[in-house]
Amino acid sequence: MTFVTRFAPSPTGPLHLGHACSAMLAHDMARAAGGTFHLRIDDLDTSRSRPEWEAQIYDDLAWLGLTWPGPVWRQSGRLARYRDALAQLWALGLLYPCTCSRADIRAAASAPQEGAPMLGPDGIVYPGTCRPSHPPSGPMPDAPLRLDIARALTLAGDDLTFTETGAGPDGETGTIRLGDLPQTVGDVALARTETGASYHLAIVCDDADQGITHVIRGQDLFPATAIHVLLQHLLGMTTPAYHHHRLIRDETGRRLAKRDDARAIATYRAEGLTPADIRRMVGVAPQASFW
Ligand code: GLU
Ligand code: ZN
Repeated sequence: MTFVTRFAPSPTGPLHLGHACSAMLAHDMARAAGGTFHLRIDDLDTSRSRPEWEAQIYDDLAWLGLTWPGPVWRQSGRLARYRDALAQLWALGLLYPCTCSRADIRAAASAPQEGAPMLGPDGIVYPGTCRPSHPPSGPMPDAPLRLDIARALTLAGDDLTFTETGAGPDGETGTIRLGDLPQTVGDVALARTETGASYHLAIVCDDADQGITHVIRGQDLFPATAIHVLLQHLLGMTTPAYHHHRLIRDETGRRLAKRDDARAIATYRAEGLTPADIRRMVGVAPQASFW
C-alpha cells in the first residue's frame, strides 16, 4: 500500500510541542510504511505569515531529524487552483456570496428564536442569513462565498464516511459516518476576502493534488474532517485515511497554543534539550506506538 502523508504548519508563529508531535508521528509512520513524508507551508493567511517563521519551521524540523522531498508547496502559490475548485462548486450551484462579518453572525445566531448559538469547527455555526432559496446563477462573483451545506449533502448523498485510524476527541475510530452536518458545521465559508480561499478548501485541494493517502494531525481538527470529506466528494477527489492524535497539553491541561513561546521547540533547543528529549516529552518514541 502506498503511504503518503504530510505536515502542513502555518508560518504564523514558532512550532511548539504539539507541532513536533504531529510532524514526528507523520514522519515516523511514513518511514515505517516505506512511504513519503511531505512538508507543506499553509501560508494562505498572508497578513499573519512571516518568512522568519517559515525559516524557523525548516530549521526546527531538520533539528528534530526529519527529512522531506522538495520542492515544498506553499498555499500562497496555489490560489488559481483554489479558484478552479470554487468555480467547480459554483457551477454545481452550491455556493452563495455572504459578506456578513463575525459580529453580524454573532448577532444573528444570538437572536432569541435561534436558541443558544452552536459552535462548529469555524466558531459560531453560521445561521444561514444570506442563503438564497435558489442557487445563484451567472458568473462566480469575486466575493466571500459560503457552501450551502444542505444542498451539498443532497448532491453528495448522505452516506458519506471516512476511516479514522487514530481517534477523535470522544474516542471515535474506525469507519466514521459524517452525521448531522447542517447543524454541526453550518454553511462554511470557502472563499474569504482576505485570503481568496478558506483553510478547508485549500487543504483538500493540496491533499488531493499531492496524492496524500494518510492525514495525520491533532484531534482539534477532527470536527473539520467532515467538511473535508464532503468537499472531496463534491470535487471528485479520493478521501485519504485520517489519523487524529491526542493533543499535547500543559501541566494545567490546557491545549498548547502558538503564542505559548515557553513551549516553542526553539526555546527548548536554546535550553540545551535534545531531539530525543522532545520525543520523550511528546511521547513519540523512535518506534512510535503513540496514536
Ligand atoms: N495549517 C493547518 C494547521 O496548522 C494544517 C491543518 C491540517 O493538517 O489539516 O492547523
Ligand atoms: Zn451573510
